[in-house]
Amino acid sequence: MKRYRSSKQRKRILALLRSTNTHPTASWIYDQLKGEFPALSLGTVYRNLRILQEQGEITHLDFGSTFDRFDGRIEPHYHFICERCGNVLDVMLPVLREIERSFSDQMGGKVLRHRLEFFGICQECLGQKG
Ligand code: ZN
Ligand code: MN
Repeated sequence: MKRYRSSKQRKRILALLRSTNTHPTASWIYDQLKGEFPALSLGTVYRNLRILQEQGEITHLDFGSTFDRFDGRIEPHYHFICERCGNVLDVMLPVLREIERSFSDQMGGKVLRHRLEFFGICQECLGQKG
C-alpha cells in the first residue's frame, strides 16, 4: 500500500464522515470544511477521499447515480435508497453470510462479498402529502 503524509484536512474529512450517517457527496464535505480550511478545493476533497478509500478507512457507494457518495462505516452493511428524495440509509439487518456459502458450494468457487440494496420510499417522504 502506498504511504501518504498525514494531513490535517484528511483527518477532518474522515472525522466528518464518521460523524454522519447521511452518506454525503464530496461537495457536501467541501461545503462543511471550506470555512475551516480556506485553501481547500473540491479537487483536494476528492483526492483525500480517494486516499482514504485506498487506506480502507472509508467506502464509496456506487449506485450509478450522478454523485458519488461516501460512507465512514466500513464494516459490511446494506443500504436503502429512497426513490423520492435520494436519501441513502443504513439497513440494520445482519449480512447474509449463508447465501455466500450456498452459492460458493453451488458454483464450486468462493464468494468473497455481495451487495444488496433496498429501494423504496423513506419514512419522511411517506409522511408527506401531495
Ligand atoms: Zn425520502
Ligand atoms: Mn452506510
